[in-house]
Amino acid sequence: MQENNYKFGTKAIHAGVEPDSATGAIMTPIYQTSTYVQEKVGQHKGYAYSRTANPTRNALENALAELENAKYGACFGSGIAAIDAVLKMLNPGDEVITTDDLYGGSYRLFTTVFAKYGIKFHFIKMDDLSILKQTMNENTKLIWIETPSNPMMNIIDIKGVAELIKNKKIILGVDNTFATPYLQNPIDLGADLVMHSATKYLGGHSDVVMGAVVTDNKQIADEIYRIQNSSGAIAGPMDCFLVLRGLKTLHLRMQRHCENGENLAYFLKDHPKVDKVYWPGFKDHPNHEIATEQMRNFGGMISFSLKSDKAEDAFSVMEKFKIFALAESLGGVESLTCHPATMTHAALPAKDRQATGIVDSLIRLSVGVEDAEDLINDLKQALA
Ligand SMILES: *Cc1c(COP(=O)(O)O)cnc(C)c1O
Repeated sequence: MQENNYKFGTKAIHAGVEPDSATGAIMTPIYQTSTYVQEKVGQHKGYAYSRTANPTRNALENALAELENAKYGACFGSGIAAIDAVLKMLNPGDEVITTDDLYGGSYRLFTTVFAKYGIKFHFIKMDDLSILKQTMNENTKLIWIETPSNPMMNIIDIKGVAELIKNKKIILGVDNTFATPYLQNPIDLGADLVMHSATKYLGGHSDVVMGAVVTDNKQIADEIYRIQNSSGAIAGPMDCFLVLRGLKTLHLRMQRHCENGENLAYFLKDHPKVDKVYWPGFKDHPNHEIATEQMRNFGGMISFSLKSDKAEDAFSVMEKFKIFALAESLGGVESLTCHPATMTHAALPAKDRQATGIVDSLIRLSVGVEDAEDLINDLKQALA
């Protein structure tokens, strides 16, 4: 789809996809092939080998680029594989500045894989840009942020970070998994590249693991494609088909995730057994103003703690849930719950966990697209 002025819902359905040139099939075929017959030596139709390029993957890569208002997209076998490709642009001696409440898998990738190749990582609080300013030096090559963050829903000022590094040779990468392009477009705010775990909202149905990198910068795109082809952590055609299908309802699902999220956040806030509720839509959320500026709505991710602050009390609430399923991951049509202190963030030392607000009674909800009334009743009976 060449037209760039369409609104988001139209783009979600049409971006990147054309009727199949061979048959007219309206849905992008699953090109389940490793190789392509060449007409003559050195002459092919743009496809030589599926690690390098595959038509189903290309359709999805173009769709994701368009949804982020960018030119280039690259899909990987997981979100983590996408971050791995970004880090492989760096050299020994380079330094990365990132947040202290990073997604656990990203933290593990940085500290146990890339640190031993001589890349140095700084984990800092980034809602205060003066700390970022102090941490930057001539070796800083990448700033990696997640906003909203997991599970505390902190918001980082993307434009503020981009302005701070303007005219410096530093890449700003944003993990846009929680917001999705429906809520936030980091490239429009000055980011150099955007990464997604397509496993979550983009796929949206908890049936695929995939990642993507999107950029408007030709130099970065060339590097990412070189690494995608050289390291080979590509997404398969069947999985690309599933995410292409998921994208067609992204705007509808996100609208409902946001509505349900808001309803549940206000319900929890008034509940006598609940201590704190973390959701960026509240006026008293510390970063509410920036959230309002850079996001179109506030999403369906909520964390809350109990007044008792005992892990056992959180467990007993979670065991009583009838609709919210106990599982890692997020962003699917069905509502999920997890216990960050023992599940997603168990790798963090207890002291660091407490300092970032991940108390023992903290419960995270990925609010699905079921009927809000049923979800509220489920919370009600579980908290009773
Ligand atoms: C899940 C997730 C990832 C990792 O993606 P996978 O597809 O699981 O490899 C990275 N960042 C965030 C914010 C996530 O939620």
